[in-house]
Amino acid sequence: MHRKITRRDFLNGVAIAAGAAMMPWDLSAAVLGEGQAAVGPENSPNYYYPPALTGMRGSHPGSFDAAHSLRDGTFWDSAGKPEDTGETYDLIIVGGGISGLSAAHFYRKATGGKARILILDNHDDFGGHAKRNEFHVGNAFRLGFGGTFSIESPAPYSAVAKGLIEELGIDVSSYSKYVNKKVYTSAGLGSKMFFDKETFGVDKLVINPNPHGGSESENPAGLAPELLKQFLADAPLADQAKRDLQRLHEEPKDYFPGLTSDEKKAKLARISYASYLKDIARVHEDIIKMYQAMPHPLFGVGIDAVAAQDAWGFDLPGFDGLKLDDKPGKGMNRDAIPNEEAEKYFFHFPDGNASIARLLVRKLIPDAIPGNSVSDVILAKANYATLDDSGSPVRIRLNSTAVRVKHVGDAASAKEVEVTYSRGGKVYTARAKNSILACWHVVIPYICEELPDKQKEALASAQKVPLLYTNVALRNWTSLQKVKASSVYAPGMYHTYVNADLPVSIGGYECARKPEEPIILHMMKAACSPGHPARQQHSMGRMELYTTTFETMERKIRDQLARTLGPGGFDPARDIAAITVNRWPHGYAYEYNSLWDPFWLEGIETPCEVARKPHGRIAIANSDAGAYAYTDEAINQAWRAVGEITKG
Ligand SMILES: Cc1cc2nc3c(=O)[nH]c(=O)nc-3n(C[C@H](O)[C@H](O)[C@H](O)COP(=O)(O)OP(=O)(O)OC[C@H]3O[C@@H](n4cnc5c(N)ncnc54)[C@H](O)[C@@H]3O)c2cc1C
Repeated sequence: MHRKITRRDFLNGVAIAAGAAMMPWDLSAAVLGEGQAAVGPENSPNYYYPPALTGMRGSHPGSFDAAHSLRDGTFWDSAGKPEDTGETYDLIIVGGGISGLSAAHFYRKATGGKARILILDNHDDFGGHAKRNEFHVGNAFRLGFGGTFSIESPAPYSAVAKGLIEELGIDVSSYSKYVNKKVYTSAGLGSKMFFDKETFGVDKLVINPNPHGGSESENPAGLAPELLKQFLADAPLADQAKRDLQRLHEEPKDYFPGLTSDEKKAKLARISYASYLKDIARVHEDIIKMYQAMPHPLFGVGIDAVAAQDAWGFDLPGFDGLKLDDKPGKGMNRDAIPNEEAEKYFFHFPDGNASIARLLVRKLIPDAIPGNSVSDVILAKANYATLDDSGSPVRIRLNSTAVRVKHVGDAASAKEVEVTYSRGGKVYTARAKNSILACWHVVIPYICEELPDKQKEALASAQKVPLLYTNVALRNWTSLQKVKASSVYAPGMYHTYVNADLPVSIGGYECARKPEEPIILHMMKAACSPGHPARQQHSMGRMELYTTTFETMERKIRDQLARTLGPGGFDPARDIAAITVNRWPHGYAYEYNSLWDPFWLEGIETPCEVARKPHGRIAIANSDAGAYAYTDEAINQAWRAVGEITKG
C-alpha cells in the first residue's frame, strides 16, 4: 500500500522522473503565451499534448483561478489594462465543449462556410466534459473517457442532434460491430457489490443481484430470484434487513390503499426514496445504506435526494404492490422514464464522446487532426499547434478564460461585442459581430454583467453536479478475474462505482481481451452530502472536490482497490500503472428534481428558459440551457443559439 507508484511509463511512453513534472500548470509559462504550440519535439517532456497527462485532470489546476477570482471580486484588482489583440471575428464562442464546437459548426453552415470564429476555453484541452485520457502501459496503448461516456440519452435524439451525429459520419447502428460483450462474461466476470467495514461492519465482496449503473456489457438490470437468494446468503446485512429485502421483492404491498394511480405518483414525486423505504415500507436501515448511492451515476446524489417516483422508474424495489399504471407520472425525471427508441441509440467510443469533439474539431480545423473517417479519428493524434493559427478561419484558443463579454455600446443598437479573456496571467480583448456563451451558466452572471437581473438569477441557479471520473490503468486484470468482478457497486466507499473498461475495438484501436493485458478501470464518485437539498449538496460537493488533493484521492483509490480486489491477489503498488482523476466540480447540468423544483406545473417558466434568452448580439448555449445533462442537449442548444443570432 505504501510503496511509491511511478508513472514513468505513461507520458507518450517516455520516461520522466515523476508524474508531477508534467502537470499542466508547469507547462503554463512555456505554453500559455505560445498559442498552445508544441514547444518541444514530440515525446519530449514539454511537448504540448494534454490527453496524455495523468494526475489531476478535468478541471485541472490553473483552469479555474481567473473565474474564481472574478467570482470573489478580486480579479480586476490585479488584472492590469487589457491588451487589444486587434482581432475581429464574425463570432466569438465562450466554451469549447460539444455545445461550443457544434455552435461553430452550425454557424459556418448557416453563413456559407467562410465565417471567422474564435473559440475560447479555460482548459488546456478542447471538448469540455468530453475529454480524452491516453495511457501507455508497457507496449499497450489504452484510451479512457475523462467525462462524457457515450452517445446515449433517456429521450430520443432530436432530428438536429441525430443529423450532426450522421454528418460527422457516426453510424450508431454499427456499434455492435465494435463492442465485444463477451470479454468479461466469458471469463466468468459479472456485477458485484462491495460492503465496507466502516458502513456495514466488515469488508465483503458479494454478487450484485440488481445492478444499476454497471457496465453496459453485463447483466441487464432486473432481479433473478436465484441471485437474490445467493445475495441474501452472502451479504453482511442484519437478519431483519435481509427479511425486509426479501419482503420488498416478494411480498408486494399497497402502502397507499384507496388512492388512484395518479394520486400515488403525485405522493411519490414529493418524497425521497430513502423516506419511502424508511417511513412507508419501514425497512431496516441497512437496506437504506445499501441503496443510498445507487443513483449516483445518473443524478450525482443518493436516494435521500431522489424522488420515490423516479426510483419506481428505475425499477428499484418496493413499488409492485402499488399497482401503478405504466404512464410516466408528472414531475418524473426524464432519466427515470424508459424509452425503447432512446435505449437503442447508444454508441461508446474508447475515449467516450471526446471522439465527437475531435470529429467536430477536424471539421472546423482540418489540419488539427489527420484523417477523414470516424474510425481513423480514434488513433489520430491532434496537433495542438494548429488550433490557434492566424491563417485559419476557425481558431481554438485554450487556457483562455472569458472574463467580460459586453456589447460595444447599447445592446439594442451595437454592431459588435467585445470579449475580454485572461490567459497566462495577462488580459486581452477581441471583437466580434456576435458571441455565443456555451460555457457553464453559473459563470455567465460574472462575465456578462449587462444581462437583466432576473436572467442572471436563473443562470446562477444552474448548480452543476460535482463528480469524479477516475481512470486507473492496471497492468493486468487477473485479480478481477479471480474475484469474478467486472463492475462493483460500493455504497460506502469514496468511489461508489468501479467498472472494467467497456471492451470496444475500433479503427485499429484494440481493447484488452486477456486477463494478462493492461486495462483501464473506471471509478466514479458523486460528491454529495446526504440530508441536504440537491442544489446545496452540489455546492458542498464542489467545494470538497476543489479542496481535496490528488494525493488524498490517490490514497483512497489505492485503499479501495486493495480492499476490493485484494482477495484476487491485487497489489496497488505493483498493479496500478497510472491514475488520472478527472475532477468535475462543475459536472452534469442540473436537472429539475420533483422534491424541490415544481417544474412540471402549468404556467411555470423554468429557470433554463429564462437563462437562455438572447440578449442583443449575445446568445446562450450549453447543456445547462436545457437543464439536461446530455450531449444531444448540448447540440440542440447550440443550434437554437445559432438560429437566434443568424435570423433576420
Ligand atoms: C463526468 C461526466 C460524464 C458525462 N457523461 C455523459 C454521457 O455519457 N453522455 C452524455 O450524453 N452526456 C454526458 N455528460 C453530460 C455532458 O455534460 C454533455 O454531454 C456535454 O458534453 C456538455 O457539453 P457542453 O458544451 O454543453 O458543456 P461542457 O462540456 O461543460 O463545455 C463547456 C466549456 O466551457 C468552458 N468554460 C466555462 N466558463 C468559461 C469561461 N469563462 N471562459 C472560457 N471557457 C469557459 C468550460 O470549462 C467547458 O470546457 C457527462 C458529463 C460529465 C461531467
